[in-house]
Amino acid sequence: MADSPAKLIDGKIYAERLRAQVAAEVIELRANYDLQPGLAVVLVGDDPASQIYVRSKGEHSLAVGMHSVIHRLPQDTSQHEVLRLVAELNIDPLIHGILVQVPLPPHIDENAVAGAINPDKDVDGLHVVNAGRLASGQPALTPCTPAGCLFLLRETLGDLTGLRAVVVGRGRLVGRPLAQLLLQADCTVTMAHSRTRDLPAVCREADILVAAVGRPRMIKGDWIKPGAAVIDVGINRVPFDDPVKAAAGRTKVVGDVDFKQASQVAGWITPVPGGVGLMTVAVLLQNTVTAARRQAGLEPA
Ligand code: NDP
Repeated sequence: MADSPAKLIDGKIYAERLRAQVAAEVIELRANYDLQPGLAVVLVGDDPASQIYVRSKGEHSLAVGMHSVIHRLPQDTSQHEVLRLVAELNIDPLIHGILVQVPLPPHIDENAVAGAINPDKDVDGLHVVNAGRLASGQPALTPCTPAGCLFLLRETLGDLTGLRAVVVGRGRLVGRPLAQLLLQADCTVTMAHSRTRDLPAVCREADILVAAVGRPRMIKGDWIKPGAAVIDVGINRVPFDDPVKAAAGRTKVVGDVDFKQASQVAGWITPVPGGVGLMTVAVLLQNTVTAARRQAGLEPA
């Protein structure tokens, strides 16, 4: 094991940096083109975590000078009503980005809703048109969490050309699009998943190791190449190690990487919480500005 612990990739610093960039772009768009990027967030139901995320998205979009609208709909809203609202937002000239918060109640088909959003306003990057654009190397609105991971890697490592990247997890929200983004950044990319043979050996090849699995502390220290950059996307709730707190039913959030072990081997590592998770909203704001520029026929900044 390396003697010195890994350097921390602090999501708070990078998210603030990205939000400041976005705020400067909004000022420029408003001053030069009378264009105020607008974001509409749709929340169906009363899932407590979703309510926190949606509030945060609304507050951050206002803080960078955007037009911000939140539509809160009751749990029993029909799919037809959600689709009707999406159709209205698709043609609303003040709205450049639409995000429908998931998970949706079980009676609503998430794919049908994602597919109803105008791909040019799809700031969550989940429409198949954007997935296809990304896969074929065309300009796309990319899902926010993987784009945030790429931002962290670029800020930390600079040019990623030729680096070996291993992405563990092939989910459509994170792993799959992130592998495409790393490929576009000229990394040599391996996607690993639950059927991968000898996963520790595959991980040990990585200069960049990303964990997007959803299994607490699965990636161990001896799976990591000394000096590698480790990006931990996982958000897992586990009982406290302290038996008194655990007995009281208290939980904490940990990643997919065993942070204690990994930070003795890696060169850089994201903490959980405080790493990737903080980037997601900042990228959402950036995607909204990108969408507004494109809809106004302006070149990217
Ligand atoms: P998915 O369920 O879509 O994907 C999980 C992936 O992990 C699958 O590809 C699965 O493989 C793979 N996997 C499961 N078990 C193993 C294993 N034992 N070994 C190797 N691979 C395995 O999850 P998401 O992509 O939506 O989310 C992944 C994690 O990221 C979760 O913890 C989630 O909470 C977190 N997350 C964090 C965000 C943030 O803002 N920080 C945003 C979104 C997600 P297979 O395909 O073979 O089944």
